[in-house]
Amino acid sequence: MFTQRLVFPASVLRGRGAIKHLGAMCGRLGQRALLVGGARAIASVEPQVADQLDQQMVSYLGADTLSGECCQQQIAQLAERLTRQGVEVVIATGGGRALDTAKIAAVMCNIPVVTLPSVAATCAAVTPLAFRYHANGQFRDMLPLANGPAAAVIDADLLVNAPLSWLAAGVGDTLAKWYEYRAIADLDNLSGLSGVARTNSELCYTLIKHFAADACLAVQQRQANRALEQVLDAIFLYAGLTSIMSNGAHTAAAHALYEGFTACDKTRHIAHGLLVGFGNLCLLALEQRSDDELLAAIALARASAIPTHIDEFAPTLNEAELQQIIEHSLNAADMANMPFDVNYQQMREAIARVQQLSGPKS
Ligand SMILES: [Zn+2]
Repeated sequence: MFTQRLVFPASVLRGRGAIKHLGAMCGRLGQRALLVGGARAIASVEPQVADQLDQQMVSYLGADTLSGECCQQQIAQLAERLTRQGVEVVIATGGGRALDTAKIAAVMCNIPVVTLPSVAATCAAVTPLAFRYHANGQFRDMLPLANGPAAAVIDADLLVNAPLSWLAAGVGDTLAKWYEYRAIADLDNLSGLSGVARTNSELCYTLIKHFAADACLAVQQRQANRALEQVLDAIFLYAGLTSIMSNGAHTAAAHALYEGFTACDKTRHIAHGLLVGFGNLCLLALEQRSDDELLAAIALARASAIPTHIDEFAPTLNEAELQQIIEHSLNAADMANMPFDVNYQQMREAIARVQQLSGPKS
């Protein structure tokens, strides 16, 4: 037997207007707060964050802008700043890379971190995991952290203002929870923990199937609705819970293909979840699922603004580059989780089948 340690976020505030509780939450954690994140995210939340801290008489030390990757250099710089400025609580805003950078630096300095995601592209706001990259953007590893966020503030009124492609990315990554879990689950060895992961993953899929189209509409109209809240719960809470329950070890061919894409200059900058979302379809093709099943998955991807053809995100990608991407994906650790060996030919054919079923290039 071995011990499993499950690291949950201490608090989750979700729903419209959740940011109104940020000040009280931070006040319980420390008296000197620093806001860190991407430039755009900081610009959109700083007035509210400063006001919230002011109401609770917490000193606001200002905002530090993160640029670039969640890489060792960026993490070390932030950790140094946290120590130098005597920060007692970190408020991290932005997308997965900014939140992960802040989570790692805060754990290194033993400072609580409150996540305030400005885009719903991943479940990074709630997990005790961080995805590290090399400075050039190539994926490095997934780092388990000793502590999760002290609080995650998931405000639908804030998240509705992010570009649609970020919500699409979150949906793509969340759908992978179910598609990949189903591909690799060992049903003969079902435990309570894997049962929760399974149920959560399937719930993510069901919620997205029902609500993704209306959630996308909410973002297009910049007006939060119930569908968006349901999809945000799927992305952050249920997908997050799956990651926590399985310690992140639930990934397979969709994430492996993503990793392959990070090896290429033409696709490296595309949001993680959009590439995983395309990878999901290739995973279903690798599993030899029927045309009907694939067509339904392609329709759901389309309704969620997820690409169903490489041309949609890398129109100039050539065959040699695609070959490199596939070869890289075959060597990714996630690919080894597949229940059968995947070779070059199978992966190439899976991509071709998805693209052929997804119809004429748009
Ligand atoms: Zn992912």
